[in-house]
Amino acid sequence: MIEVAVKTNVEAAHTDAVGRVHGHSYVVEVWFGEGADLVTLAAFVRDTATEVDHSMLENSIGSSKMESLAAWFLSKIPLSVRVVVSRPTLGFSACAYRD
Ligand SMILES: [Zn+2]
Repeated sequence: MIEVAVKTNVEAAHTDAVGRVHGHSYVVEVWFGEGADLVTLAAFVRDTATEVDHSMLENSIGSSKMESLAAWFLSKIPLSVRVVVSRPTLGFSACAYRD
């Protein structure tokens, strides 16, 4: 199986477990099956990212968690097969798959 991906970035804030508000730079990879029109999909992925870019995650997606951000992108982009959201400076990643 071959998959292709579109990568974008999201800057967003959230509240941590002790109530501190702070921001992160997230890298979002949206994966598609072979043959996807990446030019069209890249524009769609970037348009979708603007909905959460520079937002408070609890307000924009209803959760502060990186894995919820991956699931949110997966739900918004119908042709995607999986979404990987990373925080590269910490080595953290979360992935959401379409069943
Ligand atoms: Zn944080």
